[in-house]
Amino acid sequence: MKISFIGSGYVGLVSGACIADFGHDVLCMDIDKNRIEKLKEYKIPIFEPGLSELLKKNCIEKKISFTSSMKKAVTNSEVIFIAVGTPSDISGEVNLKYIFDAIKNIIPFIQSYKIIVIKSTVPPGTAKKVKQYIKDFKLNENLYDVVSNPEFLREGSAIKDFMIPDRIVIGSNSTEAINLVQDIYEPLFIRDTPVIKTTHETAELIKYSTNAFLATKISFINEIALLCSKLDADVKTISNALGLDGRISPKFLHPGPGFGGSCFPKDVIGLLKIMNEYGLSGNIVDAVLKTNFDQKQYIFNIFYGLLDNDVKNKKISILGLSFKPNTDDIRESPALLIIEKLLSNGADVYGYDPEACQNMKEIFPEVNFTNDLQKVLLNSEGAILLTEWNDLRTLNPRNLKKLMKTKIFMDCRNIYNPFDWTNEGFKFENIGRLT
Ligand code: NAD
Repeated sequence: MKISFIGSGYVGLVSGACIADFGHDVLCMDIDKNRIEKLKEYKIPIFEPGLSELLKKNCIEKKISFTSSMKKAVTNSEVIFIAVGTPSDISGEVNLKYIFDAIKNIIPFIQSYKIIVIKSTVPPGTAKKVKQYIKDFKLNENLYDVVSNPEFLREGSAIKDFMIPDRIVIGSNSTEAINLVQDIYEPLFIRDTPVIKTTHETAELIKYSTNAFLATKISFINEIALLCSKLDADVKTISNALGLDGRISPKFLHPGPGFGGSCFPKDVIGLLKIMNEYGLSGNIVDAVLKTNFDQKQYIFNIFYGLLDNDVKNKKISILGLSFKPNTDDIRESPALLIIEKLLSNGADVYGYDPEACQNMKEIFPEVNFTNDLQKVLLNSEGAILLTEWNDLRTLNPRNLKKLMKTKIFMDCRNIYNPFDWTNEGFKFENIGRLT
């Protein structure tokens, strides 16, 4: 099948590369000409394990190519996936500008039947609005169908998630269009991947409910962890015991510095806005967001307390900048708030990350960011571990105490056994584990 992706970011590139690997003829389009030119030279604008290799392989095999021409993207394809961003605006509402801009730019080039697939995460009711929008342009209704096909990949394991999904969700009022989109995923059905065929609104809401539910688990365990830190209780043992209950999956029960990234924060707030729009309170999702906001403040306060509430002119090391490992994405990363607070209190901040330094530098040009861990820790007066990159999982307190000026360490991912650090003389904190 001939397939185009409008929007060549995390989702467009990963989905495009995987679908090309299935054997389809894929064209990835983006309005960012610079991005497209780089892609043509195999320069991948994002860090995602395995993506570079998969794109290159399929480029060489001529199964995927790149363009900044919308005309080419539309005329060359039978199916057009929309994978543009849907960020929150200042009020938290989902900004659908990029979706409607893309649709507006597609319409003039539709001269034969096309399936327009909304892959971006959009609030329930968006597909209906898109259909009305196209109708207002007086495009012949026989020339298109609209399908909702939300994406569930996670940055850091995006290719695996796309290739081995838990389910495929396809929503539309056209059975033929649903079946055609299902055919694109045919190679996945050898593994009996479940397909959920449903209405647009159900498909759209499945995506929001999934992210909000996972975010709820994180906020819940973060609250339990804070209670543990007040008691003689250990959150790791509690998470383990919860996970062993057949009714509760062990996943997403790890306390941390609060969820971030380009999806959970904006999707949970987006869901709350829709609930409010329909006169519903959305108490649970509201609490999830509040807990997440508070968690980042708590983390800072605990770390600040370890430093005797004084960081002025002290070298402070931030270990991990991306919102999670194996990505360079810093959108809504907990590191943003921690760095901001440390800087406003006069700290001399040094940040380490294997992939995200460049992105962070654009936000805090005055901070020293490097992928040289030794440099970040040398003469440090306090370190806080925010992202569990592999090389941050094997730190040795015996080595760190030789490097650091002051032995203060906070482990926000509960990787380390607290006793190993306190035995080496560290002032050590984590999130709800017995120390
Ligand atoms: P992104 O910001 O990485 O990429 C979006 C791309 O769209 C950009 O390259 C931008 O230049 C391009 N674009 C914007 N307007 C355009 C237009 N009119 N025509 C052509 N290109 C245009 O975004 P992303 O992270 O890939 O997310 C895309 C969507 O997928 C969002 O709705 C997001 O919520 C959803 N999603 C993201 C993830 C994730 O992990 N990143 C996972 C599942 C779903």
